[in-house]
Amino acid sequence: MGRSIVELEAIIRNTVCRVCTDRTTTGECGREDPTSCALFRLFPQVAEAIQTVDSENISDYIEAIRRNVCPVCAEQAADGSCEVREQVQCALDAYLLLVVEAIEEATGKTFERQGLSAAGTGQPVTIGRPVQ
Ligand code: SF4
Ligand code: SF4
Repeated sequence: MGRSIVELEAIIRNTVCRVCTDRTTTGECGREDPTSCALFRLFPQVAEAIQTVDSENISDYIEAIRRNVCPVCAEQAADGSCEVREQVQCALDAYLLLVVEAIEEATGKTFERQGLSAAGTGQPVTIGRPVQ
């Protein structure tokens, strides 16, 4: 897609951190340990997942993220469950739609939203659950 990992991370930080509930009023990550944020702790895998896909279908990008990121994340249990995800503490999972929008910005593509929301509720499908 012609974007470096550094550029991609900057775009996604600008999109996601800006609205993240963990962000402080001064614009810093408010987590006790900012490196615990799976979105950026595993950003090379996130970026690789994005960059290895050449598709107009956003579901392909979501599936690639699932395949490449969660299995190498220390938070995922052997059965595929994730306590962090269940507690809505994974920024990658919680802000997946914004990550997707950042991908659109980075690639200049507009993806179909089919599979991104559950039956028109507008609720994003999270990376730990099947795409409908
Ligand atoms: S938790 Fe992650 S997404 Fe949220 S402000 Fe910190 S680094 Fe950004
Ligand atoms: S959902 Fe869980 S396993 Fe997947 S990236 Fe987030 S913290 Fe890691």
